[in-house]
Amino acid sequence: MTPATTDDRPPIVVIGAGPAGLGAAWTLAHAGERICLVERDTQAGGLCRSLRRGALTVDLGAHYLSTELPEVRGLIAALLGDEVLRLRRLTGFFWRGRHHAYPPRLPELARHLPPGELAGFVTGLVRARLAPGDADSHAATLRAHYGAPLYDAFFAPYLRKVWGMDADELDPGTQSGRADGSFGLWLAARWRALMHGADAGRHDAEVFYPPDGIGSFYEAIAGWLRAQGHELRMGREVVAIEHADGRITGLRLRAADGEESHLPCRGLLSSMPLRLLATRLSPALPAPLLADAGALRMRSTVLVYLVQRDTRPFPEHSVYVTDAGLGMTRLTNFTNWSPRLMPGPGLTCLCCEYWCDAGDAVWTADEAALVTLAREELAAMGLADDAPPIDSFVVRLAGTHPVLDRAGRAARERLGAALDGFGNLVVTGRGGAFGHLDQDRALVDGIEAARRLLAKPAAGGMAPPAPARDGPVPGDQPS
Ligand SMILES: Cc1cc2nc3c(=O)[nH]c(=O)nc-3n(C[C@H](O)[C@H](O)[C@H](O)COP(=O)(O)OP(=O)(O)OC[C@H]3O[C@@H](n4cnc5c(N)ncnc54)[C@H](O)[C@@H]3O)c2cc1C
Repeated sequence: MTPATTDDRPPIVVIGAGPAGLGAAWTLAHAGERICLVERDTQAGGLCRSLRRGALTVDLGAHYLSTELPEVRGLIAALLGDEVLRLRRLTGFFWRGRHHAYPPRLPELARHLPPGELAGFVTGLVRARLAPGDADSHAATLRAHYGAPLYDAFFAPYLRKVWGMDADELDPGTQSGRADGSFGLWLAARWRALMHGADAGRHDAEVFYPPDGIGSFYEAIAGWLRAQGHELRMGREVVAIEHADGRITGLRLRAADGEESHLPCRGLLSSMPLRLLATRLSPALPAPLLADAGALRMRSTVLVYLVQRDTRPFPEHSVYVTDAGLGMTRLTNFTNWSPRLMPGPGLTCLCCEYWCDAGDAVWTADEAALVTLAREELAAMGLADDAPPIDSFVVRLAGTHPVLDRAGRAARERLGAALDGFGNLVVTGRGGAFGHLDQDRALVDGIEAARRLLAKPAAGGMAPPAPARDGPVPGDQPS
């Protein structure tokens, strides 16, 4: 094993072994820094980790890794090589009581929609193109692009169930291109494809997928860091972040058994949720900033998994469930991703995704009730397996999607500015920087955050550039 560095100063600490934290750690390691990565979970990957249950492997809902970003493509090539499936993204959507394959066919839609409504969609779209109007909310952005009739019929009900509020209350930045992390813009692209007859797949038509689950990509990055001699403290939660004179000086960590330890730190790159970071600073932030942190909202996700014998209820990887009458937002069939995930031939595992607020009725429902709900909704979609599932289980994920509500914009900006005042702290990632980053964007955000940290004057005096070491190099190697 090659020692990471002979530098005996405190390490740069990275919080979180999700895509952003691992992207940051990778970059810092390549810059010759001694790093210590701290992760609450025992497994790498964050929300992109894969779960193993006996011989079954599943991801936390569908996890499409599609990217044109050279850094991410370079990492995939370097770490997975030929051991990655290149899938053609197969998706469908369930709308108005009917399953639609993607790309949708105009004749098929014309058969199922009242002619007046379809004409209204097209007229609205043309009007929006001619006079797009102001985009001061997420809803306004979509109306400006697609016209009010299509927005009202298709997007509004879906976005309400996804975000738990009207999209008029959400920031226009809620979905900014591929960095959106939710489904509205994805669906918008499909509509655009329908209207323009183009292949909306574009950059996201090709999906990279490790045959043993998306998490194995992130485990490979963690493995590379270990092999380079860097320290990964897994199963350790950051419970306090100490600072003095505008610099982060150390962290207090707690293991699952309650054992506490102290970690001195020279620079901090954090991908833990922003609200948590703000409330764990010691000494505490002034009360108005703590109130700002308290105003940050995150949606949560409940995942219901059903193992069954009917392996082909639908041919796609996933189906987006846009019907307002159904609580489910997305449905995934893991056999269609990689048969190696399954515990045996002739079996599949479906995953039903429900967006919710921690503490609401879906979040607090017991496992049996959630399995029943999922099976009833599958039956309503005509996708139910008559036989009871061979196995079923539920995973609750708190705080998966930052809510960029307009009401909270000022609070987010104040908090961001205050944290930026720390000379050796940079926040990154979906929850860390509070933005809708898909995994490829989160990886690159981590890479860029590491570069920003190295450039911060108060974080200066870091290790001199290290000589090149053996090991994979991303497409765009960090300088
Ligand atoms: C249901 C679902 C479906 C998704 N589908 C897709 C998809 O199809 N395609 C796609 O590209 N993306 C998808 N995503 C988004 C993707 O998971 C995220 O973009 C990505 O995981 C963000 O990476 P991150 O590193 O910013 O955050 P995370 O993955 O959340 O990582 C943050 C890490 O910080 C750790 N942490 C938090 N607090 C502490 C603490 N106090 N101490 C120590 N460690 C801490 C956490 O345990 C976690 O490991 C999906 C997400 C969900 C929830």
